[in-house]
Amino acid sequence: MDKSTIFEGLKKYFKFDEFKSKLQEAAVIEVCQRKHDVYVSMPTGSGKSLCYQLPAVLHDSKITIVFSPLLALIKDQVDSLLALQIRAASLNSKITKTEREKLLADLKSTSPVTRLLYVTPEQAATKTFKELFANLYKFNKVAYIVVDEAHCVSEWGHDFRPDYLKLGNLRENCNVPCIALTATAGAQVTKDIISSLRLAKDHKIFKTSCFRSNLFYDVYFPNILEDPYKHLKSFIEDCLKFEKEKDLANNQKSCGIIYCRTREQTELLASKLNSMKIKSLCYHAGLKNHERLDFQEMWQRGEVPVICATISFGMGVDKASVRFVIHWGVPKDPASFYQETGRAGRDGKPSWCRVYYNRADCKAVEFHLTQDLGKAKSGGKEAKKLNVENAVKGFKKVVEYCESPSQCRHILFSNHFGEPPPVCKKNCDWCKDKKAVREMVEFFLTKSVQ
Ligand code: ADP
Ligand code: MG
Ligand code: ZN
Repeated sequence: MDKSTIFEGLKKYFKFDEFKSKLQEAAVIEVCQRKHDVYVSMPTGSGKSLCYQLPAVLHDSKITIVFSPLLALIKDQVDSLLALQIRAASLNSKITKTEREKLLADLKSTSPVTRLLYVTPEQAATKTFKELFANLYKFNKVAYIVVDEAHCVSEWGHDFRPDYLKLGNLRENCNVPCIALTATAGAQVTKDIISSLRLAKDHKIFKTSCFRSNLFYDVYFPNILEDPYKHLKSFIEDCLKFEKEKDLANNQKSCGIIYCRTREQTELLASKLNSMKIKSLCYHAGLKNHERLDFQEMWQRGEVPVICATISFGMGVDKASVRFVIHWGVPKDPASFYQETGRAGRDGKPSWCRVYYNRADCKAVEFHLTQDLGKAKSGGKEAKKLNVENAVKGFKKVVEYCESPSQCRHILFSNHFGEPPPVCKKNCDWCKDKKAVREMVEFFLTKSVQ
């Protein structure tokens, strides 16, 4: 299929003048050729759906089957396609008998009008669906098999769905290109996706690099600072100095997040900062629902620039002007650390990610992990044990990141995502001045005998 057909389709069916990114464009062009299986990994909101929806529409005599984990997600997708006059439908337990019969009749007809058929993994395991699929395949009517939120096949991922594993079977003796999509997944999850969905050896990968070149990473040790709170205060003030720009709307005002391990720490730190004239709020699961909402909104609106929070804070937070993310203690593992600090600098402007590392906090985490490990071992559940062992490994990596740095800070993440090390230039303390980092760590170690 040629490029001009694809560009015309983008405008004609989706009303977009251009692709959202070069990567989206390249993925669409590749998928349209139907020559290879394709793996797409881009962050949420980057327009992964279009990578299969546009090709689906352009193959106008065939049907694209999309597996998606939740009915709510499916409904959103189908509704927005229908709003664009694109024939999409969903086969699930919620539709009426008449709807189902009408849909099946169309799918079995010689020239079906349905372009995209959305199916839950549970539905995919039913006899009705298997027969339907065999029939469509036999008459060469399947354009693509799409697996959205493909990380659900992996036990290493955060929302494993056993039924997703069966999707691989569908591909047995079936020569239809498979398109697997997920938001940035770690190396292990990616491996699982490729093997479970049996992507062909020559599959193509379209993946956003995990490197965030506008984020500066560093680590400090409160126990060797003369006054850790003063240090924190001046760091916050430096990060927030864009605030002076008067014409900014409130929701664009600079702000930041400080992650603490416990509720008590969030409260203590917030009151400490307030006493030092830095307006702060705390946020944790122990607050009343309305308080939590109020606090989050006050921060979101830009009335209070700093929120001291447990890691429960951040899901669904969509604020572009987060200038800093501080871990007051120690992050949990590379994946969480990446996700939490990733909330900084969404607007692309320089932003700072700092750990104020302390051993006491580290010991507390180790204590909990050891307990969990003991429980998991005596509980006898292999999966649970693996999970905890994994958590221990992840934690060791962040401790090493803090206590014995030996390379660019961003490499913690590129390793986790299975990518080559980025060209950091001076986006971390190590690359900026490794001698100073070494000296600081040495001093920390002499001051913190076990
Ligand atoms: P993802 O699945 O990667 O999280 P979506 O596919 O849901 O992202 O798309 C996110 C948003 O981007 C949607 O509102 C979609 O309409 C929009 N979008 C996708 N492609 C383009 C484009 N080429 N131009 C403008 N907006 C786009
Ligand atoms: Mg999506
Ligand atoms: Zn670096």
